[in-house]
Formats: sequence, C-alpha cells, structure tokens
Amino acid sequence: MSNTLKRPVTLQQAIVYFSDPDRAFRYAVELRWPDGRIDCPRCGSESHSFLKTRRIWFCNGCKKQFTLKVGTVFEDSALGMDKWMTAVWMLVSCKNGISSYELARNLGITQKSAWHMLHRIREAMRNGSFMKMGGDDSGPVEIDETHFGPNTRKMHASKRSKLAKEGYQKPVVFGMLDRESRQVRAKVVPNVKRETLQNEILEQIEKGSKVFTDCYTGYDNLSAENYIHETVNHVEEYVRGQVHTNGIENFWALLKRTLRGTYVAVEPFHLDRYVGEQVFRFNTRATKDNLLNDADRFHLAMSQVAGKRLTYAALTGKGQGAS
Ligand SMILES: [Zn+2]
Repeated sequence: MSNTLKRPVTLQQAIVYFSDPDRAFRYAVELRWPDGRIDCPRCGSESHSFLKTRRIWFCNGCKKQFTLKVGTVFEDSALGMDKWMTAVWMLVSCKNGISSYELARNLGITQKSAWHMLHRIREAMRNGSFMKMGGDDSGPVEIDETHFGPNTRKMHASKRSKLAKEGYQKPVVFGMLDRESRQVRAKVVPNVKRETLQNEILEQIEKGSKVFTDCYTGYDNLSAENYIHETVNHVEEYVRGQVHTNGIENFWALLKRTLRGTYVAVEPFHLDRYVGEQVFRFNTRATKDNLLNDADRFHLAMSQVAGKRLTYAALTGKGQGAS
C-alpha cells in the first residue's frame, strides 16, 4: 500500500482524496480491520483470496464472497465507499451540521440518497458502531416497541381533553436486544407504522438473523425480508421455548422505572436522550460473567468517546499517521 499520498486534512482535500474509489476503499479497510487481519463477516475465516478488480473477497471457509460493506449499515447501498467516506467526513467536520442538499451537491447524488446517507451515519454514531446487529454467529434479536408518557387515564378530564384536542400522542420507543451479546439499541420513533418499524429493522439487523417479536401487525411479513421471524402471542402465552421478548421488555421496565417521577410532560427530544443513556447503562451493566462497577463504566464511557474520536479522527485526518 502506497503511503506517498498525503492524508487529507481539510474538507476540500478529503473530497479530492476520497473521490478516488481505490484510495477510499483502502482507507475504509484499515478502519474496519485495524489490525490488518481481515476475517470473513459470515464465518470468521481468515483464509480468502481478494479479487482486486471487483474489490471483493472470496472466502475459503464458507465458499462465499464478501465485501467491505457486508454486515455494516452501508451494506444495502449502491453507493461506493468514496461517497460514504466523504459523507462521514463532512458530517463530523462541519461545525454547523450539514444539509442533505449540500451533501447531494458535493457528491453528485440525489437529495434523497444524501438524506439516507446522513441518517445512517448519524445512527451509526449514536450506536457507536457501523456494524449491524444479528448475523449467523449471533443469537436471536428480540424486537419490541413501547409507548411512553403520562397516563392519560389518571389525568384530570379537562387536561386530557386539552391534550386530545392538540392531537397529543404518546412517544414511541423502538428497541432491539441481541440475546447473545445482551446488547440493546433503542430510540424514539415517530409512530408504530409497519414501514417505520421495518425500516429500523432493515437498517440495524443483518438479513438472515433470527428475530423474535410479538404478534403486532407492524412486524408482519418480516420473513419476506429474509429474516427468520418467530412470534409470541402475548394473549395466550408469554414464552414459547426460546421464543420470547422478555429481554427487551425487561429493558422497558428498567427504563420506565428510571424515568418515573423525573417526568411530567415528555418531550420526545429529551426522551430520546434518556433512552440513549439507559441503553449505555444497560449495555455496560454488571453481570455474573462481567463484574463491572461504576469506575469500569466510567472508563468504558470515556474509552467509547475516545474510541469514537480516534475512529473519526482517523477519518478527519487527525489520527495517527495523518501526515
Ligand atoms: Zn466465510
């Protein structure tokens, strides 16, 4: 790999730098596999051959091909890493944020594509990872949604009718729990429409993963999207063997307990921040095998921030080897 090229420092340089698909590709490979050991995202094998002209690997373990994007939030995108890298750079380096129109102009793509890119990058930054949940070697992912906010039934009638007139709807939080790693991702979503929920699933969970939900119609036909979908009917049963959503429901219970009393009126914007904090606490909580204390959690939070900074610093040319 040639190191004669200077890594970009400014936005202008970055756009030029990443406009070369080969260079953008090499840069992204280094970020995904920092120790240089490229392992198959499907089977983990490190034995493979690289087809340079098509930028794909052929895995000797599972006899399938994989790309840099497999298992990441970039996977379903037809856009090259050159465009993705430039977009990430712009998002992290523009102090005043960046609009989809601006990004579209710079990359020569449609505003709609640019909007989707920004959305996915923000999600990845929030989750601390560009990787999706699930996959072959992972456990099932429990999926559920829940409503938050004041109990309108216990409200004074006048207040209740005022809220109803204003078209008040309780905020909805959508969540996913990986049964194997016990990691959660959760966020406020605008509604419980099928399209909304399934777009979240498609963006965050690898196809082919086992997913467990309740019988809500918003989750219908997930198997048509290549998920191994199993449902539990809460009216008749709460647990059917392995198939249940108790893990994510336990997370909702924790979240609601934490929020009780701290809220009167719930602003979805603030709620989302609380959800984010609770996700971090949950994902770093102490377990039998993992005896974390507050000091460990603090350290983890700091290293996550630092880790993010390192990753994005590398992207923005401020990391090691930036000169
Ligand atoms: Zn493989």
